[in-house]
Amino acid sequence: MVTTHPNDEILQSYVNGSLSGGMEMFVKGHLHYCPQCRNKVELLEMIAGELLTESREMAEVDSAAFETVLRKIADNESKEAEKPDKKIHGGVMPSMINNLIGKTSEQINWRFRLPGISDYQIANDNGEEISLLKAEPGTKIFQHTHEGEEATLVLSGALQDGESVLRAGDVSVVDETHTHNPSIIGTEPCICLIVMSGKLRFTGRFTRAFNLLT
Ligand SMILES: [Zn+2]
Repeated sequence: MVTTHPNDEILQSYVNGSLSGGMEMFVKGHLHYCPQCRNKVELLEMIAGELLTESREMAEVDSAAFETVLRKIADNESKEAEKPDKKIHGGVMPSMINNLIGKTSEQINWRFRLPGISDYQIANDNGEEISLLKAEPGTKIFQHTHEGEEATLVLSGALQDGESVLRAGDVSVVDETHTHNPSIIGTEPCICLIVMSGKLRFTGRFTRAFNLLT
């Protein structure tokens, strides 16, 4: 069972589309495992949709702009629908994650980093690095520092970070003030999606929707 979740700010930014590519992948991955957050996102989407309609009614002067936005949304929706629904099966990650990455854990050309630890870089742009980390049971991941934030989503296996044990679907989001020294437990290799970035932007326009939930 998933015990850790992205915070409400992250989910809200996901709903209003202001997350970076890597963080969007991070949230999508978590939602795959977490019915609780899926419900929350559904609710936020509903409220955001209503607010959009409401603001549209209030902003008659600017109706042309709204038409453009709505057309864009419709365009994106039809683009999504056109995507072929082929699933990549195999490996230890769910096929939904395989699909996001484009390959299975077995097809990945893992890069050796340290004994027991290898990684695979999915993307690195706009100051954000998206990668997978694979660590063998018993491995300690050395304390590391970096600028900005580090979001981790466990995809398989388990790791212990202080008192808490993170398993598939669990997340941790820490900034540079947080030092951690997780180790891999259990008998399976642990694979994590890691998104490293500068500060997240929480400039959502649906702050009111967010406040309704708290
Ligand atoms: Zn969740």
